[in-house]
Amino acid sequence: MSINSFIEPFKIKSVEPIFVTTLEQREQYMKEAHYNPFLLHSKHVMIDLLTDSGTSAMSSEQWAGIMRGDESYAGAQSWERLETELKDLTGYPFIIPTHQGRAAERILYGYLGGKGKTFISNTHFDTTRANIEFSGAEAFDIPCIEAKDLSSDYPFKGNMDTTKLEELIIKTGVSNIGAVILTVTNNTGGGQPVSMENAKAVDSICKKHQVLFIIDCCRIAENAYFIRNKEKGYEHKSYREIAQEMFALADGCAMSAKKDALVNMGGFLALKNEELATACTNLLIITEGFATYGGLSGRDMEAMAIGLREVFEEDYLHYRIMSTTYLGEQLKAKGVPVLYPIGGHAVYVDAGALYAHIPTDQYPGQALVCELYKLGGIRAVEIGSVMFGKYDDNGKLIPSPMELVRLALPRRVYTKSHLDYIIEVFDKIVNNKANTKGVKITYEPKFLRHFTAHFELL
Ligand SMILES: *Cc1c(COP(=O)(O)O)cnc(C)c1O
Repeated sequence: MSINSFIEPFKIKSVEPIFVTTLEQREQYMKEAHYNPFLLHSKHVMIDLLTDSGTSAMSSEQWAGIMRGDESYAGAQSWERLETELKDLTGYPFIIPTHQGRAAERILYGYLGGKGKTFISNTHFDTTRANIEFSGAEAFDIPCIEAKDLSSDYPFKGNMDTTKLEELIIKTGVSNIGAVILTVTNNTGGGQPVSMENAKAVDSICKKHQVLFIIDCCRIAENAYFIRNKEKGYEHKSYREIAQEMFALADGCAMSAKKDALVNMGGFLALKNEELATACTNLLIITEGFATYGGLSGRDMEAMAIGLREVFEEDYLHYRIMSTTYLGEQLKAKGVPVLYPIGGHAVYVDAGALYAHIPTDQYPGQALVCELYKLGGIRAVEIGSVMFGKYDDNGKLIPSPMELVRLALPRRVYTKSHLDYIIEVFDKIVNNKANTKGVKITYEPKFLRHFTAHFELL
């Protein structure tokens, strides 16, 4: 099928204005924000591709659910609807609601972790790693070898290296393993999908050694799209059945509902083991809220239950993945270097290759996010040496291995016309490539500097 053949499978009932700005205004706003898009006012952004987390548009059904929300402290109907939906989807009997993904992670990995424990993942998402390391445990990433080749069209670069998994389990000793975590899709690894074959292989190793297998299922619906369209034997299964088959392999899952549950806030844990679930529920009650609401209001749980149904709809998932593919393939066709194949929720531009003339200590990724805002009012995030760079003892930059810029697509928010606009802005960026210069850092905090650092154009 042609990458052009998709439409938004929805009509627009309520609109939110985009304020159209001029180049001169944007130059001024960017200067006021010290050339850091995190410091921009969102009203000055025309197309916001900072993240796909919590930025989805809800459906009319979800908004109707918001009105039905039951705000009872205990045993609310909205909780019962969410619990029923999640038991049916995951097949796990114990459901623990939380206010977002990292709260679920803190509870589960805080409980399983601690000094001397080891966690193994295809790639830990940053909040996952932070919660594991905060508990005193260690987190190892073992992405598959194919993930290293950034331009091959291997379809499942999100896979875990199962040979390394078994070696690591044996080396570490079963009793020291906190859990094996399969992140689906692999967010940090470029939103790349994980195959069912890989999930099965991970499962059989975990079962053989009797270690806990948890799925980080933030984007499991998007992952199911890739399995059905790229893995043999799944052509005739529904997306929901594919997700259910994957859930059935593991001992539980953690989810940020801000991704594939199509809501602006929410999360949960779902577990097979009663003892583990009871321990987690006790921690939940201390830090998040009572067992039947976690950190959520009734209306949030109602909207989440509906979103978890809608996300598996055929037409929605086709539109969703084709939007990302369309943007990525069009950029690639224009000669913009992108990570390949295009993942589920974002297009990653290789700014280091696009701006080969800008040295890493002048931050080519930051130069690109500045250009995107200046020329198009588009906000994106640098994932390179601003985010991951460190200094050696002499104050010299140790760069990140890649200088990327992520264009993350919010769900159901932008139309194909907005994507065409982004593609046009990239024409200007490519035309202006030789004149584009790097940036220098004028202020930086000690930790997580990308959020608040100040820059100047060189
Ligand atoms: C977003 C995300 C999380 C954390 O969820 P929050 O809701 O942001 O706390 C965990 N894992 C993955 C893969 C994510 O994308």
